[in-house]
Amino acid sequence: MVLCVVPDIYKGLPHGKPLSFKTRPVKQDIKNNDIPMKLRIAIQKSGRLYEDSVQLLKECGIDLRNVKDRLKTESDNFPLEIFFLRDDDIPQYVEDGVADIGIVGENVLYEKNKKAVIVEKLGFGKCRLSVAIPRSQQYEGVQSLQGKRIATSYPYLVNEFLAKNNIQAEIHEISGSVEIAPGIGLADVVADLVSSGSTLLMNGLKEVETLLQSQAVLIRNNDLNAEQQKLVDKLVFRIRSVKKAKHNKYILLNAPNDKVQEIIALLPGMKSPTVLPLAEQGWSSVHSVLSEDTFWDIIEQLKAAGAQGILVVPIEKMII
Ligand code: ATP
Ligand code: ZN
Repeated sequence: MVLCVVPDIYKGLPHGKPLSFKTRPVKQDIKNNDIPMKLRIAIQKSGRLYEDSVQLLKECGIDLRNVKDRLKTESDNFPLEIFFLRDDDIPQYVEDGVADIGIVGENVLYEKNKKAVIVEKLGFGKCRLSVAIPRSQQYEGVQSLQGKRIATSYPYLVNEFLAKNNIQAEIHEISGSVEIAPGIGLADVVADLVSSGSTLLMNGLKEVETLLQSQAVLIRNNDLNAEQQKLVDKLVFRIRSVKKAKHNKYILLNAPNDKVQEIIALLPGMKSPTVLPLAEQGWSSVHSVLSEDTFWDIIEQLKAAGAQGILVVPIEKMII
């Protein structure tokens, strides 16, 4: 069965102050039988991952009250407490068990080199960590970085990359606006996050090496108890349903009965397409699910095969 509901649009951005937590051992929570166990998730307080993280939780059917300007909130309909933090701090909190799970970019997770398990890739916050050099300079492979000054906010990952390639270079760690470093004489090259590449272009730089492809991931503490793990599994089940739905579209079309066989041969469907008779004699309605990857190709073929009145509807959740 496929659920077709037009997705909600969510609003609101927090502008809270940094949150400080005392480390508390994970297992203490479940000892008190009076308090039902809650899973604690750390998400970014504000920035590029905030909106997608909150939206994902909402799409998973988790009601979040007062997310605006809050450092911490909880859900009314899922045993979940949400901590809003700087993304850099999330791996540490998850390793320590202050938060049981977290949403963070792979770039930050690997840079911080903390112990946490990746549970699910989330498909947003996509970017890459790249080395970029002034556009006027020649690049003849990684050896061109020998002896250079590299400005970056990712010293651990850059150091790893240099060591792997036997390059001696000077790493200058800076926390923001890395791309201006060559222009102001602070460094020769940069290693920074890139998504479209327009920031590099604007600063007269060109990308020459990719160190890491990154996206937002759900991470969990290494040592969850069975009850916590059960809640994580429940959340992951919902996340997968939401992700799957985003990747697919529900399609409805009308076709003359003599064309139906040809049309359903083009449609994969979840099991097989649904075919229903129309009130008008000799006509049927065909329903199916199409993946976004093949969507436009198949639509063209359907039209050519005689499909009419094609409707395409977003799917909110797909439970398979
Ligand atoms: P915080 O205040 O939480 O420390 P920040 O300034 O370090 O925030 P953002 O710029 O909000 O971080 O980016 C958060 C994450 O978004 C990055 O760590 C990365 O995983 C992802 N991201 C996706 N595209 C980009 C991009 N073009 N530049 C920077 N980060 C990106
Ligand atoms: Zn950060």
